[in-house]
Amino acid sequence: MIERTLAIVKPDGVDRGLVGTVIARFEAAGLRVVALKMVRLDAPAAGGFYDVHRARPFFPSLVSFMTSGAIVPMVLEGEDAIARVRGLMGATDPAKADAGTIRRDFASSIERNVVHGSDSAATADFEIACFFSALEIRTR
Ligand code: UDP
Ligand code: MG
Repeated sequence: MIERTLAIVKPDGVDRGLVGTVIARFEAAGLRVVALKMVRLDAPAAGGFYDVHRARPFFPSLVSFMTSGAIVPMVLEGEDAIARVRGLMGATDPAKADAGTIRRDFASSIERNVVHGSDSAATADFEIACFFSALEIRTR
């Protein structure tokens, strides 16, 4: 099924000059960039985006990290886009990520792991709407 998903180059990826590298991996896998921007989140916005993790011990540090610099959110479209982006990213902990994944190749820790990708269709709908209005997403 053709799906849309939200991916983000996180502040560590932007700071380290990995925006192009991350996007190139997605495009090389056949995913299309249909929306893209650079933003910097404040704490309420980052907390809202990661609301599902609010009770987790890593939440305060995650919000601090995600507000530490610019991020590059994008909407990617393609066949099975949600699972395929997750596969290209690799496991949350780079030590457990498969060889050849973005996180295995570039992440410096379980927190500073370069990329985000939606984990389900419902999550993708919520997360895309966090950053893009319908008119900001390319349709054809
Ligand atoms: N995270 C962390 N410590 C953990 C788990 C997660 O700092 O033990 C951070 C990490 O940046 C991760 C984000 O919180 O990407 C969201 O966690 P999730 O479990 O949803 O991982 P993801 O879906 O990004 O692989
Ligand atoms: Mg997640």
